[in-house]
Amino acid sequence: MGVLWLDEIGADDVDAVGGKGASLGELTGADLPVPSGFVVGAESYRSFLESTGIDEDLFSVVDVDVEDSAALSEAAERAQELILDAPLPAELRTEIIDAYGDLGDDPFVAVRSSATAEDLPDASFAGQQETFLNVTEADLLERVRECWASLFTRRAIYYRQKQGFDHSIVDIAVVVQRMVDADRSGVMFTSHPSTGDPRMVVESAWGLGEAVVSGSVSPDNYVVDREDGAVEEVTVADKKVMHVKDDETGETVERQVPEDRREERVLSDEHLDALVDLGEAVEEHYGTPQDVEWAMVDGEIHMLQSRPITTIEGESGSASEGALGDMDLDSQGAGADADTESGDERASATDGSGAVTDQSGGDPSDEVLVSGLGASPGKAGGTVTIVDQLDELDRVSEGDVIVTEMTMPDMVPAMKRAVGIVTDEGGMTSHAAIVSRELEVPAVVGTGGATATLEDGQAVTIDGERGMVVEGIADVEDEPAADETGAAGGGGAPVDTSPAERSKPMTATEVKVNLSIPEAAERAASTGADGVGLLRVEHMVTSLGKTPERYVEDHGERAYVDELVDGISTVADEFYPRPVRVRTLDAPTDEFRELEGGEDEPEEHNPMLGYRGIRRSLDRPESFRYELAAFRRLYEKGYDNVEIMFPLVNDAEDVLGARREMEAAGIDPDKRSWGAMIETPAAALCAEGLADAGVDFVSFGTNDLTQYTLAVDRNNSAVADRFDELHPAVLNLIGETIRACRERGVETSICGQAGSKPEMVEFLVDEGVTSISANADAVRDVQRRVERVEQRLLLESVR
Ligand code: PEP
Ligand code: MG
Repeated sequence: MGVLWLDEIGADDVDAVGGKGASLGELTGADLPVPSGFVVGAESYRSFLESTGIDEDLFSVVDVDVEDSAALSEAAERAQELILDAPLPAELRTEIIDAYGDLGDDPFVAVRSSATAEDLPDASFAGQQETFLNVTEADLLERVRECWASLFTRRAIYYRQKQGFDHSIVDIAVVVQRMVDADRSGVMFTSHPSTGDPRMVVESAWGLGEAVVSGSVSPDNYVVDREDGAVEEVTVADKKVMHVKDDETGETVERQVPEDRREERVLSDEHLDALVDLGEAVEEHYGTPQDVEWAMVDGEIHMLQSRPITTIEGESGSASEGALGDMDLDSQGAGADADTESGDERASATDGSGAVTDQSGGDPSDEVLVSGLGASPGKAGGTVTIVDQLDELDRVSEGDVIVTEMTMPDMVPAMKRAVGIVTDEGGMTSHAAIVSRELEVPAVVGTGGATATLEDGQAVTIDGERGMVVEGIADVEDEPAADETGAAGGGGAPVDTSPAERSKPMTATEVKVNLSIPEAAERAASTGADGVGLLRVEHMVTSLGKTPERYVEDHGERAYVDELVDGISTVADEFYPRPVRVRTLDAPTDEFRELEGGEDEPEEHNPMLGYRGIRRSLDRPESFRYELAAFRRLYEKGYDNVEIMFPLVNDAEDVLGARREMEAAGIDPDKRSWGAMIETPAAALCAEGLADAGVDFVSFGTNDLTQYTLAVDRNNSAVADRFDELHPAVLNLIGETIRACRERGVETSICGQAGSKPEMVEFLVDEGVTSISANADAVRDVQRRVERVEQRLLLESVR
């Protein structure tokens, strides 16, 4: 029989209905408040594979080297195609639709994958398979099939291979269950997930539970002593977003939480009492601590899922350890394999600018740099690697501490190399938390701002139990910190934020700052920069985990525009009224391929020379318009300090195309400040045409301009020694462009990495550039350097 009702299922039916199905059946049988529903059994999936004859092909295409990411992507794509393209047997179609009909009144249902190995105690597959909410009869069959296909995502294939599960023995069932239109929801660990103490940890946010589980919101966190029922800790988070059902479309959409509820406590003591009762009943039923997903409607609790907690060690022991300052770092947390030697090696780390930074720490100090939720127990010392773009994952070496806004599925291989994970966002059940625990890598999640506070190359010690990151690692000799007075481009010198030191040199040439992560805006603004010379939106987009097209398809245009508006306004607020130059999207297709929906990207031989920047935007006006809609909204909200910059233009035609799109989006180019990057020799040579097309400014993207002028791939280490931004050909193009622009009243700027180099600064000021935009850590030095060159020019003019 293809379909089984929850009340016919028990815990022993894992093989037939998967872990989730069996658990829900078991809970239903125990009279716990589980929404009604049925399961499309694993046998249906198996007979679908066999009757359509795709099984052999399927298991052979996924037999690949999972560390080869191109092969892994192709395998995932091909496997999913096989499942999605094969016809569903007629008998099964009827059976599913009839069962849905028996739920009565055409309800919205949740359609959840339930893999047969998913919820076993040793393999929490971390929500890898699909779940669809608010599904109706019209989409039900397709959603079931998509659940099956989700057994073959990159992440799932990678996991199974690494965990030693044979692809062909893992089956998948699909749970179809009445939706609970929750006003608040969350998760609950019936015992502490790190220590196993009889203390319940409850996380909760407004609306549907998806936001908590996916980590897109930092939830409230409550700790309740199960023995006396006392609420021991309440940490109320700033909950910016919530997931709700859109009344019109029935779809799950992300909404802003109204201002007055963002920092309101989601759960009252009474709610917690009820959850504790429920948690105890579940734990008692199973006899082991459980990780429970729950939802509430008008105070009534529903259980959505329960599974054993996989991370409690028999002898966690760590609870008895002393304070951070006393920690024995030689006995690092489980899985933290950094040793003294690698710590020493890392004492000299390379920062983002390629400069060598001496950041060796001494003994860990008591100073807590950031704190958050202790999501995965263990302690480890390592060097911070801030990962803010997918292509930066390669920078993560054995023994690094990954510091990132929020981990994504594709980060798993890098997370394995790391000794610790620190995230800005997410709760105890976010992807970061679950995967870190399973990989036994200590993790601190939901710190709020580690990417802004911690620095690349910084030596830190992470305590994944107490949720803290402190300065320094053990067994590395004390050495003086990098000299802040070094020349510009020294890279890695700590940004000086002391008010006395911040007395900023007054220069006629403006000195601005480059920015990618909105969370870093405060730090960037504290440099005293005259504005933001380049705000890249790529991070805001790729951190959504989906290509823009897929994101809009899944969440709607409004949600996508909201994301952009949110990120940009965070920066524009921080700098107001100083100008913030925001660049429209410029990610190469190989980066998009890493994201969900990336399979639709064109396969390119050389993505650097390919479908990116303005050429992609003009070719996909629909997607481009979402970005421009975000700008329009920002202007409507009064952010008149926002400027628009177009990347990778070649000539006036590109610029006029962009201008037309701006107008079509309701932005008046004559009223707003807008411009173009000079990143190709063509753009430099066509500078007059760009000026005539109406740009207010141009900005030299020397990273690209150098690679295209010298034919040196900027990412290719084999030719890295030939990557010379100060090459006479590059300087010639820049000098000529500045001259052409000055004659036409167009401002000039630089926002490539070379803007942080003293020689480039001298050259540009000599040539009469309007502004220079540097990395946050170089702003101070650039200011001083500019001051000195300007004084020299003045002196020369009067001598
Ligand atoms: C550049 O090319 O110099 C630039 C600033 O853009 P990106 O590094 O994002 O390509
Ligand atoms: Mg560029």
